[in-house]
Amino acid sequence: MKKLEQIYEGKAKKVFKTDDPELFIVDYKDDATAFNGLKKGTIKGKGVINNRVTNYLMKMLEEKGVPTHFVEEISERETIVKKVTIVPLEVIVRNIAAGSMSKKLGIPEGTELACPVLEYSYKDDALGDPMINSYHALAMKLATQEELDTIDSLTFKINDLLKEYFKGVGIELVDFKLEFGRTTDGKIILADEISPDTCRLWDIKTHEKLDKDRFRRDLGKVEDAYQEILKRLFGE
Ligand code: ADP
Ligand code: UDP
Repeated sequence: MKKLEQIYEGKAKKVFKTDDPELFIVDYKDDATAFNGLKKGTIKGKGVINNRVTNYLMKMLEEKGVPTHFVEEISERETIVKKVTIVPLEVIVRNIAAGSMSKKLGIPEGTELACPVLEYSYKDDALGDPMINSYHALAMKLATQEELDTIDSLTFKINDLLKEYFKGVGIELVDFKLEFGRTTDGKIILADEISPDTCRLWDIKTHEKLDKDRFRRDLGKVEDAYQEILKRLFGE
């Protein structure tokens, strides 16, 4: 597999073409941003941790029947993935109120929700990723009804699997963001990443935050939190 030219550099990852037209290589950076790019920084070692965590969780999901873009980890920071056209939606699931939901609806952070809440944001940095519903997604032709049905059912399945998995290692899965994509033959698969950058992860007993909120809110010990997630998953 040959790494060819970079086609995209995002806030947390770079994406490269390869000599296989169906495959990309993603390269995880240590750069961190929050509040739609207003806050910028570096979390040392984050790229390595997010690469490993994402691949570990995607492999686990794949074994349980969730189609993902994961192909092969080729270095500490680089992974071969299936090329997809990203559906421009951030699919967010919430099990416990936190972040923007607490702020918008006045629900104190940490309140357990009676059922999981699924939200969509329109993936558009210039607009600040505004929250939309399925009617907006259909009206804006971001996805078809059939694709939204697939995305929703895969998302709830992923939530059940991840919640259970994290519980087993003493972590509460508060909320997280997923991205899906279309393969060249039109199949919807899970893409992007699942990491402490994209999930809220709290210690079950102490409720200590072990995720990017430590960076967003200047809570300190950011690197330690990412390291702790690695420890819980891999025992190191
Ligand atoms: P952002 O674009 O929000 O700054 P990243 O820095 O994580 O985010 O950049 C990675 C980009 O690659 C994202 O835009 C993401 O949607 C996209 N992406 C993730 N997985 C794939 C894939 N399998 N094929 C094509 N694009 C992907
Ligand atoms: N999230 C993400 N990328 C985004 C926005 C949110 O990964 O661009 C994740 C975030 O880490 C959290 C969940 O989605 O786990 C819900 O985030 P929220 O809407 O509360 O927004 P935030 O508080 O991050 O602004």
